[in-house]
This record gives sequence, structure tokens and C-alpha cells, in this order.
Amino acid sequence: MSKQVPTLDERPPDVGELTPPDRTLMGPGPSDVHPRVLRAMSTPLVGHLDPSFVEIMDEVQELLRYAFRTDNRWTIPVSGTGSASMEAAIGNLVEPGDTMLVPTNGYFGGRMRSMAERAGGDVVEVDAPWGEPLDPVDVERAFDEHQPDVFGFVHAETSTGVRQPDVSELTDIAHAHDAYVIADCVTSLGGVEMRVDEWGVDVAYSAPQKCLSCPPGASPLTLNDRAMEKVLSREERARSWYLDLSLLEGYWGDERAYHHTAPITNVYALREALRLVAEEGIEDRWDRHRAVAGELKAGLRDLGLEMNAAEECWLPSLNAVRVPDGVDDAAVIDRLLDEYDLEIASGLGDLEGEIWRIGCMGRSARRENVEYLLAALADALAEQGYEA
Ligand SMILES: *Cc1c(COP(=O)(O)O)cnc(C)c1O
Repeated sequence: MSKQVPTLDERPPDVGELTPPDRTLMGPGPSDVHPRVLRAMSTPLVGHLDPSFVEIMDEVQELLRYAFRTDNRWTIPVSGTGSASMEAAIGNLVEPGDTMLVPTNGYFGGRMRSMAERAGGDVVEVDAPWGEPLDPVDVERAFDEHQPDVFGFVHAETSTGVRQPDVSELTDIAHAHDAYVIADCVTSLGGVEMRVDEWGVDVAYSAPQKCLSCPPGASPLTLNDRAMEKVLSREERARSWYLDLSLLEGYWGDERAYHHTAPITNVYALREALRLVAEEGIEDRWDRHRAVAGELKAGLRDLGLEMNAAEECWLPSLNAVRVPDGVDDAAVIDRLLDEYDLEIASGLGDLEGEIWRIGCMGRSARRENVEYLLAALADALAEQGYEA
């Protein structure tokens, strides 16, 4: 009996030209990309050690410092998505045997925990319900009880639409205990007030595809000297070679030596996105997000809908809205996508089925987007038999 030898199909796959739908992106990210950023991405590549690229790297670093409101020398875009800058922060700062304090009030605190554990850290938690910020009193209590070396918190929790107020209060507590603070600013950088230096944040990371309205691929990270000293004096090397900041220092620091090939096109994109931030002015940009998302919030209220987060911790870049009784949250999301090419998202974790998440980030934080969304949502709700 002869064995059947599978034969490769000789014909090349018949795959058509790329024609993605033209969506309006008002979910938890990515947000709509500015045409200038798309144009920057179609410019020719240069080598990642080309003198012209070295200049571009300097400019990106300077623009990032401006957006983060920091003088930190160690301010770089990490190759990869926001989770890469997140893992660069946690995986370098947390050494085996260190204790890291993480929050439980949203999805991304859970990711902090996983990363700290993989870094060899012991993890302790400070609790707050999903949809609420951390209470400084609880943070203080957790510090007294566990004496953590590193404290991570999420400034803008994309899973719940909660902005952590009192950032300085939290960093004061941590510093009084000699700990380092890592802030997740993925959904705040370039959209919601964040002052890294003034507020005493030691390490902050972000992603380009949220309030910077840039495609994912090169993700902002900043560390102050104190944090970088801890990283450079580690006894055991960081577990990730790719994200080892003591090695990346060679490329982004004075030496400019090869470590890995930078995602050139993504660095171009980030440069243009950050140039747009600088042109608008960072504080005006925060104001615009508040104003436009404020109109969204007022419009949602007119539809009889309720915000999930309390006013004091409302996050303009991510609006969590309660799904009214009797309305099928997924059907509304589907109708917006199918009929209006409009993306919003459902709730996650403890808030699954209870909220919609409506992003208002960067280029998507525009009046015309909000008007479009409110009209589309009114229609989708009416289709469900909901009356405002
Ligand atoms: C999106 C997001 C991340 C992860 O970023 P990716 O680009 O998806 O890897 C981390 N933290 C928060 C708060 C986010 O919203």
C-alpha cells in the first residue's frame, strides 16, 4: 500500500487587495489615526543607525518628555504595544524577591500582577471595586502591612472608565516607605492630565494607539534617575533580553549601538503624533478631551443613560455608560458597527454586560464624532424598544 503524499497546491492564494472598512473608532483603542500620521508612515525607511534616524530618535525623546511633563533622561519608545512598555517597566524594576503592590479595581491591575510574578516578585494587593478608584487610606494601610518595594497603579483604567485622582497623595505614601511608583498612563498620555515629575511618578508607561491617535507599535516609557539606578544595579539580569533596559540603554542612550532594529515606521508615526500634541499644546489637549467628552456625557444623559464612574473620577478618554434594563448590550454594539461603521466596546470582568465603553481619544475626541455617536446610539437603543 503506497502512502498518500499530500501535494502542495501550485496556485498562489487568491487574496484580494486590502480594503478594510472605514470605521469610526470610539472604543477602548485604537482610536482614529490622524491623516498626518498615516502620511508619515508612508515615507521611505532609513536605517535604524542612520545619522538622520539618530536625530529622529532625539526628537521623539524630546517630544515624549513634553507629553509626559518630565525631564527624565530615560524617556523612550519601547518596540511593541503598550503591554511591552508595561512589561519593560515591571520586568526591569521588580527583582526576584521584591514585593509589588498592585490594584484589583480593573483589568490592567491584574495584568500588572501577572507581569510582576513572572519577574520573580511577590505580589500583594490593594482592593477597590471595579468602577471605583483606589482610596489613599487603603494604599497607606497596604504599605504599613506589606512594605512593598514597588507600587503600581492604573491612572486611567480603560476597563472601567475610572481616572485615579489623588496621584500625588499615592506617590507621597509610596515614597515615605522608600518604594518606587509605576503608573499605567496608557489611556491618559496626551488626553488626560498627567504630570510625571510634579506628581512624583518614578516610572510611567503608555501606548500610542489611545490618546495619541497613532497606530500601535512603539510605546512610550519614562523612568527617573532613581528608578533607573535600581534597574542598573540589579543583581540578577532582567528576565527578558528584548526588554532589558540596561541593554536598551545602549541604543537609546549616548552610545546608539545596535540592540534590535527599531520599528522605524512606528517611530515616524509616533514622532508625527507627538508633533500634533506639541502643536496643540498639552494642556489645551487635556481641555479638549474634557470639553468634547463632556458633551458626550451630556448627550448620554439626555438619552436617559447613566455614567458608571462617579464624577470625581470620570475619565474623559474612556466613558463607561450603564446599559439600561431590558437592552441587549451586544446587539447595540453590533448595530453601531454594522449600520454606522462605528466601534464601541462592551464591559469586561466584573462589569461584563453592565456597561458600554465609549472612547473619546485623540483624533476621535471631536465634536462631529460625538454627534455621530449620539445619533447612532439613539437609533440602536430605539431599535431595542428603549425610550429615552
Ligand atoms: C490598552 C491598555 C494596555 C495595553 O496596551 P496594548 O497596546 O493593548 O498592549 C495597558 N493598560 C491600559 C490601561 C490599557 O488601556
